[in-house]
Amino acid sequence: MDKLPFERPFIKKLSSGMPSKFGIKMESDPITEIDGMQISDLIKEYGSPVFVISEKTQRKIYNEAKRAFTTRYPKVQFAWSYKTNYLDAICKVYHQEGSWAEVVSGFEYDKAIANGVDGKYIIFNGPEKSDADLEKAINNDSLIHIDHFDELYSLMELSDRLKRKPKVAIRINMDTGIYPMWDRFGFNYESGEAWDALNRIMLSKKLDLMGLHTHIGTFILSANAYKVAASKLAELAVSLERKYNHVIKYIDMGGGFASRNTLKGAYLSGMDTAPSFDEYADAISSGLINSQIRPENLPILILETGRALIDDAGYLLGTVIANKRLADGRRSTIMDIGVNVLFTAFWYEHQIAPAQPFSHHTEETAIYGPLCMNIDVIRENMIFPLLKRGDHVVISRIGAYNMTQWMQFIKFRPKIVMIDTSGKAHIIRENETLQIFAEMEDTPDHLKEFKL
Ligand SMILES: *Cc1c(COP(=O)(O)O)cnc(C)c1O
Repeated sequence: MDKLPFERPFIKKLSSGMPSKFGIKMESDPITEIDGMQISDLIKEYGSPVFVISEKTQRKIYNEAKRAFTTRYPKVQFAWSYKTNYLDAICKVYHQEGSWAEVVSGFEYDKAIANGVDGKYIIFNGPEKSDADLEKAINNDSLIHIDHFDELYSLMELSDRLKRKPKVAIRINMDTGIYPMWDRFGFNYESGEAWDALNRIMLSKKLDLMGLHTHIGTFILSANAYKVAASKLAELAVSLERKYNHVIKYIDMGGGFASRNTLKGAYLSGMDTAPSFDEYADAISSGLINSQIRPENLPILILETGRALIDDAGYLLGTVIANKRLADGRRSTIMDIGVNVLFTAFWYEHQIAPAQPFSHHTEETAIYGPLCMNIDVIRENMIFPLLKRGDHVVISRIGAYNMTQWMQFIKFRPKIVMIDTSGKAHIIRENETLQIFAEMEDTPDHLKEFKL
């Protein structure tokens, strides 16, 4: 038997109302495996920390979302939000399931093309599209979602120069009862700006108006906000039909569905508060079918869901480096997972589970990462058992945004492994090495030599 770690005795105040003298139970059971692969084997093989993606979970959640919408609305199309996680293997799972690509930069656009997505199935969003980006998208018949008037005028010029009719939609922001309102992207509905943009497009006859788009925000906990948004877009579609006899092909409701993570400061767990796909689908489909749009003109409903599809399919595995008492007597555990690879630690109370059975004698613990920075806090305070140096931990629901917003800081970014549906693991992104840095850097001749 391993020698038990020594823990300095401490005095714990018993409060009435506690379930037992041992206090509150850990929020989770140990997680010892993912899709049949042992955590300890994964770490032995691929190092620590390591990101793990479950292809099985990815496909399962996608199909849950798809079912929720297709059972409520006749024409549904998903478009994978590249910025949520643009690893090629992850994008391709969604493309295999039938998802188009939704991109917000020239880099992401090129990535989608390189992944084999036909240009006409790429939705190009975002405030920054260079003329070169736009030209490429026009020539590929991609769906360009206009963000501002300057972009609209550039497209008109390009249309003249290239003698082509770009396929466009406009992004629309609006009051849906969610504050602060995201009014910096697209054209505003209430002020009449969106209608103004639509009239300019229709009167110019230079652009092919395909659809209307909105993305009301992210981690939206109110399904009703989507109903409001869908109704407002439907009203614009009806106005276009009345004034120009123009029937749009699609309404794109963007992303923003909440995942089951718990936001910092939330009173209840995200498991209990996030609306289900069914609730979002109810809200959006009733906004559309109860509008004045004629049945034969019902547009395709496009969804750019990111976070809610991928978050639960991602795990971050790591190792305990040390335990330590803080000056105020609180226990802290230092892990090899820092905020540089877990950006979402700034927003979420992440679920951290030991990867081996543990005693239920728990204590409030601060969980820190390995960076030499005071902000490197994974959990300020959580009920946690005592783990010893070398024990493993699993952080769940981290598939969204961490692998695109991560920072390289004092350590190499780790490997990313995908476990396929038959339980086999594949490296889908290598860890960084000193070699990679050497390739990107150069030293001027006069700095090559020095003597100490
Ligand atoms: C980021 C983004 C999405 C995805 O948002 P989630 O909150 O991850 O679902 C969809 N559409 C646009 C335009 C975006 O910018």
